[in-house]
Amino acid sequence: MRAAIVILGQGALATARRIQGLYPQATIHGLAERVKGADQSYANFGETLRQLYLDNVPIVALCAAGIVIRGLAPLLGEKGAEPPVLAVAEDGSAVVPLLGGLGGVNRMAREIAAMLDVAPAITTSGELRFGACLLDPPEGYALNDLEQGKRFVSDLLGGDTLRIDGDAPWLAGMELPLAEDASHVLRIDASADGLEHNELRIHPRVVLAHVTLVDSQLPERILQGLDQARLARLSLAALVAPRCRMADPALAGAARKLGVPLRFITRDAELPPAVLHGDSFHLHRAATPAEAERIGQVRGRLSVIGLGPGERDFMIPAVRRALDEAQDLLGYKTYVKMAEPLRADQVRHCTDNREEMQRARHAFELAASGRRVVVISSGDPGVFAMAAAVMEALHESEDPHWHSVELEVLPGVSAALAAAARAGAPLGHDFCLLSLSDNLKPWEVIENRLEHAGAADLAMAFYNPISRARPWQLGRALEIVRRHRAAETLVVLGRDIGRPAEALKVLTLGELTPEMVDMRTLVIVGSSLTRRFPRASGGDWVYTPRWYR
Ligand code: SAH
Repeated sequence: MRAAIVILGQGALATARRIQGLYPQATIHGLAERVKGADQSYANFGETLRQLYLDNVPIVALCAAGIVIRGLAPLLGEKGAEPPVLAVAEDGSAVVPLLGGLGGVNRMAREIAAMLDVAPAITTSGELRFGACLLDPPEGYALNDLEQGKRFVSDLLGGDTLRIDGDAPWLAGMELPLAEDASHVLRIDASADGLEHNELRIHPRVVLAHVTLVDSQLPERILQGLDQARLARLSLAALVAPRCRMADPALAGAARKLGVPLRFITRDAELPPAVLHGDSFHLHRAATPAEAERIGQVRGRLSVIGLGPGERDFMIPAVRRALDEAQDLLGYKTYVKMAEPLRADQVRHCTDNREEMQRARHAFELAASGRRVVVISSGDPGVFAMAAAVMEALHESEDPHWHSVELEVLPGVSAALAAAARAGAPLGHDFCLLSLSDNLKPWEVIENRLEHAGAADLAMAFYNPISRARPWQLGRALEIVRRHRAAETLVVLGRDIGRPAEALKVLTLGELTPEMVDMRTLVIVGSSLTRRFPRASGGDWVYTPRWYR
């Protein structure tokens, strides 16, 4: 759950961390001037709360309920998203669900209260009486009519009795007013028959639409097919298509329009019995939602992502989303660690940094089997990192299953850009990025490029400048650069940028020696026009002007 845990003071951080233990994907937002060590800082409490609410993010605020209510009050008049909102006492002694009754706020209140070992302040009468919400069925089931549902629950609270017609395993532990001759009936079935007066209907999602031909009319025709078969539209569980159609965007569009997932089969025999034959689709009906969910496989996804240099705020939101949705994560173990918080159910495949092609192929195998896979690089995945290896693995492959994976590359802030930003703007004019590693290219190529970049007066950023296995290369590179650049040329050394041990040094090419540099350093060598001036806070700003002479 991507909840936001919002705190106002340092004293709440310990409780916030305990709640984060329950929801590892949650982010702790701390008031900038009073909290140290939160995941994110904010300046204005009310604005932060309202933005989270509008973004439909569940909110756990560790402060007085009144402050939360006043903060959200301006938004409550309008209908729209209503995420769960809870107030929790700073010391963890009280848990108060405030908003989001149908978004599962009481469920969260129970979970948090159980963890903190207190009683949740549940005030919803239906929940109190029956032990859970009747109108919030589990995945695989859909409530037919919310308004009728609310009436139904208040009737039960008023003393009416209930009969359950159909299979509702999740109601087993509840304290319902059951009776043989009940006035009210909760019916669990896929039928589209009209609701009786005292009836609550929950539809199991058991119908599969097996698509044989896609066009723009398909969603409408499937809905008509359901009507014709007297099946509720909400009982549609998925569209099913042959595996060879996996990458077809029209199919994906139809599924999106119908609001159901898309699954792929290799043999028609995998399907349960047909209940209706249409022109471009057939309707099949599984016995249970669980059975419908087991038919075929989904289209796998492979996201090649860049974490940025390390700091959470420097990671693009699309990358955080991909990490949260991932089932498998592949990467060098340091980077997988940097991608935390991760859940226990997410599989980490940590490997040695060098086995890039092997890792890329492993990623395709997992994604082709229907998994959501993330390949992790630091910085940007396209800068001396995994994206090129992933592309090459696919280019070389003739496996149609690999080619039908949903492949995306999500960018990150590369070390050169992060280090440059810390220093000012040393890459403010034309520049080049060079890896000094001769693991994957001959050293002569590197020398030749240094020679030309030096002659062209480009600013340069060196990645992989030195390592134990490559001890002499940097010294040799500097010799070449010095043939073209004066000793006063400015150099920026950025080490562990965006990480706790971050260090930034500004010096001249004359002063630079290889001993000052290690493999966690990014080296920027300025052009002949790169200059510096003192910053008020100490040290220098470095920049390369955008003009040239
Ligand atoms: N894809 C990465 C680069 C990987 S190559 C990116 O776009 O940033 C690894 C080299 O990048 C390291 O040897 C170092 O030179 C540089 N580097 C990566 N992260 C860094 C950081 N946080 N601070 C300084 N240099 C870094």
